[in-house]
Amino acid sequence: MKPLTEQEIRAAFVNCTKGQTKRLFVPRDLSDRPWDDLDYLGWRDPQSPDRAYLVAELDGHPRAIALRRPSPAAGQLQRGMCSMCLTTHTGNVSLMVAPKAGKAGQQGNTVGTYLCADLDCSLYVRGRKNAGAGARLQESLSVEEKIERTVANVAAFVARVMA
Ligand SMILES: [Zn+2]
Repeated sequence: MKPLTEQEIRAAFVNCTKGQTKRLFVPRDLSDRPWDDLDYLGWRDPQSPDRAYLVAELDGHPRAIALRRPSPAAGQLQRGMCSMCLTTHTGNVSLMVAPKAGKAGQQGNTVGTYLCADLDCSLYVRGRKNAGAGARLQESLSVEEKIERTVANVAAFVARVMA
């Protein structure tokens, strides 16, 4: 994806109030991120590990989503599959929920998904990070096809939050 600045990321949030967007944690090392190899940029708030954020491109625009883990118990899976990159992890997939954009979100509506807890889907898909034995289904897809699928899954999730 195209490199983004902190300002661009803050402006891209679709499911936060203006105040939240101003205050939320954005990584300082944006210029060191491997943007060429990212299908989305995801990060956690180090002060508040139940909060995570992701930014992806949708129809050529950056769109950022605030996520939270509903409760430690609900988010803890013994073994689960990430809905974005379809990597299976042991103890490293979280259920995350995103408030919907606009009025629906203010009324408490959320969209849930299972995500790699470290939000490093892009690196798993490219084989740059290893999730351990049995982490990938036997698939005949090429890396490019898996990247396309991950991009499509993230875009579909962002679209559900914005719908
Ligand atoms: Zn993943």
